[in-house]
Amino acid sequence: MTEKTFVIIKPDGIQRQLIGKVIQRFEQANLTLEKMKMKTLTKEVLTEHYQHVSKQPFFPGLCAFMMECPVVLLILSGERAVARVRQLVGATDPLEAAPGTIRADFGTSKQRNVVHASDSLESATIEIERFFG
Ligand code: ADP
Repeated sequence: MTEKTFVIIKPDGIQRQLIGKVIQRFEQANLTLEKMKMKTLTKEVLTEHYQHVSKQPFFPGLCAFMMECPVVLLILSGERAVARVRQLVGATDPLEAAPGTIRADFGTSKQRNVVHASDSLESATIEIERFFG
């Protein structure tokens, strides 16, 4: 089934000039770049987006990190795009991410893990509306 999913290239990816490399991973996997824009995120949108971790001790640091500079927002489409993008991205902690994944190759900590990707079709729909609606 063709799906759409949502990705953020986080500030560490921008600062370390990894935008092209990250997008190349998705293009090489035959995913289609449907939309792309740069945006400075606000505390308000991050509080919605990261609501599921808002009680965690790392939440204030996560918000500060996500506002360090403008991020790149992507909509990707393709067969089973949600699961395939999550697979290409890898586990949250770069040390636990499978070799060859974006986070394993470029991530430097649990926080600075280069990309966000929607974890389900439901989240993808909500996140696309939140950031592109
Ligand atoms: P994922 O992004 O892999 O879906 P979560 O939704 O659990 O992971 O967490 C959201 C983001 O919060 C992570 O991508 C990461 O940037 C940050 N994060 C998660 N766990 C930690 C942690 N223990 N310490 C610092 N930052 C964290």
